[in-house]
Amino acid sequence: MSLGCCVRLASDKLGRDFRVISRWEPTSQVCADCGFKWGKIDLSVRSVLCLNCGTQQDRDLNAARNIRDLAVNGGDYKVGIGHCHDSKRTQRGRKTTEGQ
Ligand SMILES: [Zn+2]
Repeated sequence: MSLGCCVRLASDKLGRDFRVISRWEPTSQVCADCGFKWGKIDLSVRSVLCLNCGTQQDRDLNAARNIRDLAVNGGDYKVGIGHCHDSKRTQRGRKTTEGQ
């Protein structure tokens, strides 16, 4: 699987514009949860236990999450900051159904 294919898949899922990231970004070397860099791992290693946060990361899934974060944040790994999914739904006043 090429990296280009992988990025396209990730952007499709997000419904976002497709962005090219540097092919040298160490997406499989950094924990997608805490940003800890464990360094290069052998291709035969399918999952990594993060030494910092203790999360068992699937190699490909972790890389995909890092790629997505790169696309969204322009390259800044979030360290120690959780995702903020504040829904911006503001509750407007309900329409009053007027009697006929
Ligand atoms: Zn971690």
